[in-house]
Amino acid sequence: MNETKKELMRAVKADVVNGTSLPLYTERIKNKVFPVIGEGNHDAKIMFVGEAPGRNEAATGRPFCGAAGTVLDELLASVAIPRADVYITNIVKDRPHQNRDPLPLELESYSPFLDRQIDIIQPKVIATLGRFSMAYILEHFCGDDFPETISKIHGKVFTGTASYGKISVVPLYHPAVAIYNPSTKEVIKEDFKVLKTLC
Ligand code: URA
Repeated sequence: MNETKKELMRAVKADVVNGTSLPLYTERIKNKVFPVIGEGNHDAKIMFVGEAPGRNEAATGRPFCGAAGTVLDELLASVAIPRADVYITNIVKDRPHQNRDPLPLELESYSPFLDRQIDIIQPKVIATLGRFSMAYILEHFCGDDFPETISKIHGKVFTGTASYGKISVVPLYHPAVAIYNPSTKEVIKEDFKVLKTLC
């Protein structure tokens, strides 16, 4: 693995771990759980960006290792993309209480860590999982206000500009949606096929 990338990612981790002023830091310490930085290939072509850790993720420090992770693994397998080839992270690095939606201050406070991770990995494709990461990534890289809802733009490819060049952004439904609404799994599977055409 590229040493510089590894060191830069370690620095991101240290800043999150020691981020005493982060909005969910006190809760992390009180609940004796971990922040979730991300995992995967530091040279990944595709980076997945979820919302925030759930219970299993905060207990282990690993992204998408619970029920939503099982669905994500199935979706990756359906397009023969090995999980080890991609990088998986979230916009918010600590678990919001009882999996509530992230607050604007949380998105604002944690997103600079995601920005640094994107600059380190330099993915060609950013696949967003759910509406919060979709809104942030589209606004950040595609430069516009995106009033469209995820139901209108899931599976479409948007072109964006990152600090290192052009990227493709693909908004996807959050895998957890398929747990509560199994018919959506086929829709997400269809959307995943577009990833294969981009890498
Ligand atoms: N949901 C997310 O958005 N991220 C995780 O890591 C797990 C569940």
